Amino acid sequence: MAKELRCADLMPGCNFVAQGKDENEVMQKAGEHAKRDHGMSSIPSDVERKARGAIRDRAAPARLDRR
Ligand SMILES: [Zn+2]
Repeated sequence: MAKELRCADLMPGCNFVAQGKDENEVMQKAGEHAKRDHGMSSIPSDVERKARGAIRDRAAPARLDRR
């Protein structure tokens, strides 16, 4: 199942969406984006945890609440 992470879930106002075939690929793309566009030289572990929690299945209905 393809995954995606909407940066707006972590950084309100950012419209970047990282997509990948699995969680690790999404995290890698999101990490590159955070460095490039948010000036984060490294990803703090609490931010990484939040990001992983915000990853959704790409095919899931947009309104599905996975909490
Ligand atoms: Zn962003």
